[in-house]
Amino acid sequence: MIVMKFGGSSVKDAQKFLEVAEIVKSRLDKKPIVVLSAVKGVTDNLIKALSESIHGKFDSYKEIEAKHKEILKGLELDQSTVDDELKELKEALDVNSKLKEDNHKILDYISFFGERMSSKILSALLVKQGIASNYHISGDIGLQTDSNFGDATFLESSYEVMHKNLAGADYVPVITGFGGKDENGEFTTFNRGGSDYVASLVGAGVRSEEIQIWTDVNGVMTTDPRIVPEARTIPELSFAEAAELAFFGAKVLHPKTIKPAMDKNIPVKVLNTYEPENPGTTIVPASNVQSGVMKAIASKKNVTILNLCSARMLNAYGYLAKVFEVFNKNKKSVDMITTSEVNLSITVDSEDKLDKIAAELEKYGNVKIDTNKALVCVVGEGMKQTPGILGELFSILGKDNINIDMISQGASEINVSFIVNNIDADKVVKVLHKAFF
Ligand code: ASP
Ligand code: MG
Repeated sequence: MIVMKFGGSSVKDAQKFLEVAEIVKSRLDKKPIVVLSAVKGVTDNLIKALSESIHGKFDSYKEIEAKHKEILKGLELDQSTVDDELKELKEALDVNSKLKEDNHKILDYISFFGERMSSKILSALLVKQGIASNYHISGDIGLQTDSNFGDATFLESSYEVMHKNLAGADYVPVITGFGGKDENGEFTTFNRGGSDYVASLVGAGVRSEEIQIWTDVNGVMTTDPRIVPEARTIPELSFAEAAELAFFGAKVLHPKTIKPAMDKNIPVKVLNTYEPENPGTTIVPASNVQSGVMKAIASKKNVTILNLCSARMLNAYGYLAKVFEVFNKNKKSVDMITTSEVNLSITVDSEDKLDKIAAELEKYGNVKIDTNKALVCVVGEGMKQTPGILGELFSILGKDNINIDMISQGASEINVSFIVNNIDADKVVKVLHKAFF
């Protein structure tokens, strides 16, 4: 079996639905399981529809309805194909115009309608074209999560249930991406872009031979082509390299996607529905990867540094545990950490909850917050075997007068991350790409 995940831009209109159906049909011998995102723009529309409902407005709902009807028309499918979903959505919004709820639970329920409709439509299209297919809500075929709405955690026990429900399928299952359900049967999501992660979880559950992420670019690029037009596709990446890149800002994959595939040793391919013949990027275990010093540069703007300065760190144990407990309690994840005996620097990717955290940290030292920073991350397994590579990298930046605030390289030596000013970030990426690629 293989899992094929298609993103929103791959089903943005009737024509793209037809192209996706062709791609699926070209792989029928591999027994595909399809995981689908919402039609492009629909998740945003749904989020808007929820906030509009609070003010008794339904403009976004109408747009969503019109968009799906137009796609059904273009595909010559029954106009009532997603009427049940539209009706349920409209009723939920009507109820909400009175209750005026605006929390993650209702948001997950509402925003999930996009995947429910797109998947139902694709499955109906395959059936119309003579292919046996069924549409499934991910949570109904066993994808269970905890109840942390908006950013749910997958429950490992789901693997066996998904395996039982899907492994023997003699039809093409089309499954909603984005999230699953909790133990009460409520819709949960893995946050924006979560469909990649669903694909990887389904693939790991059925132990598929491959997980394909179909998107609108030719795989993972050496860097963001909007910053460096010469950026190229990276033919092969190791799981570890891909995980670092997804985490540090390469937008192609949801950061959690790599882990399930890596645990079960399933190759992940990133492919392009706009250029189906392009080989894209294959992500495999490290041992199979050809060497190459640096593979990619990713950058993430608008990160914030929190600096904690205190002599209490000197020779004390338990200090870091106390500091990170504050982050833990506030459910705030941190990206990069550097420490000396008297100073601890931590980066976070938004200012959300930061004032509260800073106030709580005051009891452990002097807190200083630096905003408008960017994280740049250079990834490549080959860096380990290349002495002097860091010297070269930083002397290039030095020549360009780039000020560096923090540097971090883990013992695994497959990535070097550093913090620069936001305004320098694009320049850093350009200069390094030119020097090393
Ligand atoms: N439709 C959801 C989003 O836009 C999930 C996804 O596309 O992966 O975030
Ligand atoms: Mg995506």
